Amino acid sequence: MKILVLGFDGASPQLIDDWIDELPVFRKFKKEGVFGHTIPPIPAQTPVAWATFMTGKNPGNHGVFSFFMREKGSYERKIVGPETLKSKTIWHLLNEAGRKVATINVPMSDEEEGGLVVPGFLSRSEGIPSSNFRARIERKFKTDRIQGDLEIDTLERVEADPDSFFEKINEITDKMTEICLYLLQEEEWDFFMPVYMGLDRIQHFFWRHVDPTHPRHEENKYGKAVKNFYAKVDRIVDDFLGLVDEDTMVMVLSDHGFCPVHTEVVLNDYLEHQGFSTTRSERVDVVRSKAISYGYGDIWLNVKGRESKGVIGPGEEYERTRNEIIEYLRTITIDGQKPFKDIRKREELWWGSYLSDAPDLTAIFNIGYQAARRPEVTGKNSLKRYVNNNPRWSGGHDGTHDPTDVPGILGLLGPGIPNRSGVEVPLWDVAPTILDLMRIPVPVDMDGRPLKLTE
Ligand SMILES: [Zn+2]
Repeated sequence: MKILVLGFDGASPQLIDDWIDELPVFRKFKKEGVFGHTIPPIPAQTPVAWATFMTGKNPGNHGVFSFFMREKGSYERKIVGPETLKSKTIWHLLNEAGRKVATINVPMSDEEEGGLVVPGFLSRSEGIPSSNFRARIERKFKTDRIQGDLEIDTLERVEADPDSFFEKINEITDKMTEICLYLLQEEEWDFFMPVYMGLDRIQHFFWRHVDPTHPRHEENKYGKAVKNFYAKVDRIVDDFLGLVDEDTMVMVLSDHGFCPVHTEVVLNDYLEHQGFSTTRSERVDVVRSKAISYGYGDIWLNVKGRESKGVIGPGEEYERTRNEIIEYLRTITIDGQKPFKDIRKREELWWGSYLSDAPDLTAIFNIGYQAARRPEVTGKNSLKRYVNNNPRWSGGHDGTHDPTDVPGILGLLGPGIPNRSGVEVPLWDVAPTILDLMRIPVPVDMDGRPLKLTE
C-alpha cells in the first residue's frame, strides 16, 4: 500500500466542524473514512509534536521538549532543530524496509533522512530540496526553494499590513501545491508527505476573528480570510485525491489545533516575586537564580552538580524547591481567574531515556492564557510586568496548553478503511499506524500502537 500524508500545521477540528458544510472533502473523510482528533504531546508545540509524529514516541524518548531548551551543562537557551531529535524516525524505518520516501517541508526533518527530502521549519536548510532532485526543481520551476513558510519580515508586518500577509500566504501555498502535485506524479514513491504551515501562522494572528468566545472577538473580513484558507486546504486535499490511485491510503493530519489567548503570563516575574529568581538589567540572572523559565511554560532549576554554578542541592532540596514553586504558582490568580490548570513535574509528564533533558517543571495554562513570548526578559519597569493583556497573538497552543484543549485533526481515506468518525488518537499512534498499514513491523520501543482499523 502507498500512503500519502497531507500535513496542515495547526489545522483545527473545531473550525472544520463549524464550516463542514462548505468543506466537501473533509465531509468525505467524515462520511466515508476515519475522522477525528489527534492528541498532541505536552507541550503541544510544533517541533515537539512533529517529532512525536515522526518517531511514534513521547518526548522522553525522542528528546525534544520545547521550542527552546537549556543546553546541557550551560545556561544558554537554545532553539531546537532536527539535530535535537535523538530517536530513529519513521523515514529511517521506511527507507530500511526499501520503501521510497518523499517529504516536503515537514518541520524538524532534515536531508539526512534519505529519499526525496525538502527539509522543513527549524532545519537550517528549510525549503531547499535535497541534492538528488534539486536540479530538476530548478529546471522546471525556476526556483531553488520550495517555500513552505513566510519570511520573518512578512510575519513581523502582519498587523501593519494584514492584506499582504494573506496575499503572500496564499501565494506560497499555491506554489508549493503546484510543485508537490508535479512531484507526486513524476517521482516514484511509496510514502509522500508535504506539510503546509499556513494555517498555523494565520490562526496565531487571526484566531479572535473566528472564535466568538474570544474577549476581543471581532467579525470582519479577516475572519472570512481564515475561512477561505480552510476552503483552500479542502481544495488542496481534493487536488491530491484526484491524482492518487485506488490503492493509496490518504491521511490528513495536524500536529495540534488552537485555543483563544487573551493574556500572556511572565512566569519569570512570578518566580522573582517569590524569591526563586533574581534579575539584573531586566534579565533573569540565571546563574544566581534557583529557577528560570526559558521557553513557553517550562521551568528549569539551577541544581548543584548538574548546572555548573548550581545553587540548590540535589535530592531533598531539589524536591522541596519544586514543591514550593508548584504550591506558589497554584495560588496565583489574575483578575480573579486562575491562569494555570496545573504545574507538573517532568516525571509526571514523560518517560524514557532523555527525561534528564526535560525541564524540571511545566506550567499547563488554562484556555485563554499562555506563557509570554520573551520569557527570559522580565517586564520590570514596564507595563508588562507579570501579565500582558494585549498579546500579539490571539490564538495559541504552545504555551503550554493541555493537549486535549488543542487537539489536531486526523483523517484516513482509502482501501479497507472503515467509516469511523469521532476517533481520538494520541499523535504517537500515527507512525505505528502507517507502518502497520504498509506491513512493516512496528518497533517495540515505539510508545504508540497501531490504530485498529478492522472491527
Ligand atoms: Zn504546529
